[in-house]
Amino acid sequence: MDIFDLLEKHDFGSVHVGRDVASGMLCFVAIHDTRLGPAIGGCRFLPYPNERDALIDALRLARGMTYKAALAGLPHGGGKAVLMRPNKLFDRAALFRAFGRFIDGLSCQYFTAEDSGTGVEDMEILRGVTKQVVGTGGGSGDPSPFTALGVRRGIEACVALQLGRHSLEGLHVAVQGVGHVGYHLCKELFAQGAVLSVADVDPLKTERAQREFKAAIVPNDAIFGVECDVLAPCALGSALNDASIPRLRARIVAGAANNQLAEPRHGDDLHSRGILYAPDYAINAGGLINVAMELQGYDAEKARLKTLKVYDTIMEIAERSKSSFTPTYRVADLMVEEKLGQVAPSLEAR
Ligand code: NAD
Repeated sequence: MDIFDLLEKHDFGSVHVGRDVASGMLCFVAIHDTRLGPAIGGCRFLPYPNERDALIDALRLARGMTYKAALAGLPHGGGKAVLMRPNKLFDRAALFRAFGRFIDGLSCQYFTAEDSGTGVEDMEILRGVTKQVVGTGGGSGDPSPFTALGVRRGIEACVALQLGRHSLEGLHVAVQGVGHVGYHLCKELFAQGAVLSVADVDPLKTERAQREFKAAIVPNDAIFGVECDVLAPCALGSALNDASIPRLRARIVAGAANNQLAEPRHGDDLHSRGILYAPDYAINAGGLINVAMELQGYDAEKARLKTLKVYDTIMEIAERSKSSFTPTYRVADLMVEEKLGQVAPSLEAR
């Protein structure tokens, strides 16, 4: 499959390839859509087996960012940058400076941020050579509490619609993964009176949740089978698959992890079983909402108020799903396509 087939398959957009021989920098910047505004999305810095795999990662992730930003009502499109980590000695600062100069030349079409393999220090280096970066040390800070706040609001919407309850008091939530977001989610839920079960591959993290939030610790391989009201996947992608779905005892699945459905058909499966699934990119947008606020002059309170609206988004998706007998993941995609269809075609799409 050549690059044109890849672009067609991922319905793109534009892709920019940057190379700097002196520092060993090689990057792919995928800009999926700019109809709602300049693209925003993190930069990954990982070892890839080859350039093709790196490009595919950028294409796949950029599309997801378009959908997340559009549904969150942000004036942004979706983009993602993938930097190939050199397999020999390299000067990290020089490499990131070269990347910064490259995105600075993209006519303000793309803002980058942290992602897998990059951190605040890298964003500071980028800030030295370009304004096309968010998530620096003096900016919006850790996105996880905002992501968790949005997930808690999304759970509240699901609980209201699916269980007819308007409080989380006594609600049993099973959380898979109590890392950055999972921990803050437990904190949010515990404060609202929810009862928690948690699992994590790291026992220190589950012990902390037990200590601070009276959570019951469940073995990793048992968390999907816990008899509970809500299952919140907050660990890895593809958590909802052929093996896990038949074991579910919850009537709601609503968590922070990206790409929770192993394949789209698993969204159909959940729907046919009467399990309400909160689409991942709709419920986990709080972190993006927070970081995007930097571009308007960062205001934590405004970011918080906008994140609270995840409730309305999830409620609308769930209501439309119910009335149209359509799986929620499909309703969310349709809502994004409606939003994008209402604006003029972007430069890339022309
Ligand atoms: P994290 O790495 O801090 O936490 C993930 C946790 O899952 C870790 O504690 C890890 O030990 C645990 N884990 C890994 N494999 C597991 C397994 N098989 N069973 C149980 N636990 C397991 O990451 P995070 O920042 O909390 O993000 C969690 C998920 O949410 C990821 O999918 C991420 O892409 C997504 N997400 C995060 C944010 C954010 O603001 N951090 C925003 C949007 C989406």
